[in-house]
Amino acid sequence: MNNNNLQNPSSDLLCINNKNLDWSEMRIQNIFLFLFIYTTMIHCTTIGIPNPISKNSYDFSETVVYRLCILQDEDVSDSRVNFMVNRLTEELKDYNIKLEIPFKKKWTRNYFFTHDILYNDVVHRPLPNQCDRLVAFASRGFGDFLFSFFGEVMGVVETVTRTKGVVYADYFTFNVLIGATPSSVLIHENYHFLGCNHSIIMNSCYESVFNHKKEALKNKKEYDFFPSLGFDQKMIPSREIADLFLTQLKEEKNEN
Ligand SMILES: [Zn+2]
Repeated sequence: MNNNNLQNPSSDLLCINNKNLDWSEMRIQNIFLFLFIYTTMIHCTTIGIPNPISKNSYDFSETVVYRLCILQDEDVSDSRVNFMVNRLTEELKDYNIKLEIPFKKKWTRNYFFTHDILYNDVVHRPLPNQCDRLVAFASRGFGDFLFSFFGEVMGVVETVTRTKGVVYADYFTFNVLIGATPSSVLIHENYHFLGCNHSIIMNSCYESVFNHKKEALKNKKEYDFFPSLGFDQKMIPSREIADLFLTQLKEEKNEN
């Protein structure tokens, strides 16, 4: 998630303040401005616009367990983690995906840049046996606040295996003003964990979640693993294969 686009609406506002514009022109430009800002907001906070008609075309009735393991930054409180997890639990209930948190392990952020946190630390950690995904809940400091003026990453998931990621768990930047709360970022990154990419409308995301559930139900007995989407767009059936791919290809791709 990146806020580079936030610099652009200011130039649109200057156009709207031009006194030579008549009302009809202003209305048209306001509409475009609204759409631009709205598109920027949804890109930063959601995976796309929800579409209940498309969602209801898939059968999400069967319950599947999905286990998220957490590396909890020493500066992130238990109450913050619990609040974010509760929000994600509610989101996944819509798909009858039962979220479980097998463990929360204390963790120290040793790198400044998100890319380094992910690729120099998190992806090197094997997925524990009871985990389907591993995500670090990182805190931010004053250096991150200053750096956010030049572009801010709020969460990231590697797309080699879509099993590991980083989410910032505090409100220490201006992105919260556009709704990019830590909980919304966690939900956003979890859609990436379930194979979703950024889109205008969530139609393809519903299909991806449905396919993941279907594969998870088939996969459960043999591998006890909620499958993930690999870099080659094929399902990864086990955590051992996921870790092997990450060892070989860990720096090829990522999704913010
Ligand atoms: Zn994203």
